[in-house]
Amino acid sequence: MPAPIYKRVLLKLSGEALMGSRDYGLDNQTVKDIAVDIKGVVELGVEVCLVVGGGNIFRGVAGASSGMDRAQADSMGMLATVMNALAMQSALERAGVATRVQSAIPMSSVCEPFIRRRAERHMEKGRVVIFAAGSGNPFFTTDTAAALRAAEMKCDALFKGTQVDGVYSADPRKNPNAERYVSLTYLDMLARDLAVMDAAAISLARENKLPIIVFNIHEPGAFTAVMQGEGKFTTVV
Ligand code: UDP
Repeated sequence: MPAPIYKRVLLKLSGEALMGSRDYGLDNQTVKDIAVDIKGVVELGVEVCLVVGGGNIFRGVAGASSGMDRAQADSMGMLATVMNALAMQSALERAGVATRVQSAIPMSSVCEPFIRRRAERHMEKGRVVIFAAGSGNPFFTTDTAAALRAAEMKCDALFKGTQVDGVYSADPRKNPNAERYVSLTYLDMLARDLAVMDAAAISLARENKLPIIVFNIHEPGAFTAVMQGEGKFTTVV
């Protein structure tokens, strides 16, 4: 079995990734499949942490566009990520993976508060740490929170699980001529406005020399394969 190419990684899971083919909420089988894939990576000896999004439940921008105060709507979005984090924790623990959820908005009867040094210790012990509630601040996204936590946790790479196996010149589900990039620079991503992660997340990754690996979260075993340098993915460096 090829050795893993990274020792410590952060995987960003969007709310959409947990939704499967539904148009709202969580799909249990999808969450379970992702948990099994994460287990495969943990079994390679890689230290893994996660940032989960909440767009399958609530997005602040949508709330604001229907008249809510933006900061208030963002708080609701962050709470949505906590629900997803708890669902992911449950699926991982059922798969036999030790986990801890840490929330950027403290809610001590549900999970731990975010404490960087404690999170690091969990990871050293082989536990998967699931970071919930994004950055804890409105006007941010969980992509940016993922780049932030990856930098704080001294991760070797930021994995972004998407619906397709990398970054394409156009949406491959709509355009059959779309080409997959094997590798891109952060500046390419910013200049071409490739809608994989927001600009704040890419800038933060760039400043911290954190490679972003974009791969298909729905292909069984893809996370493990990519971790061994196999399969299809795009590297942003
Ligand atoms: N959010 C926030 N601050 C953060 C991260 C997220 O206010 O640091 C809110 C924001 O309203 C966002 C929602 O939480 O729309 C869900 O996160 P996101 O849209 O990033 O989820 P994803 O698209 O990954 O499912």
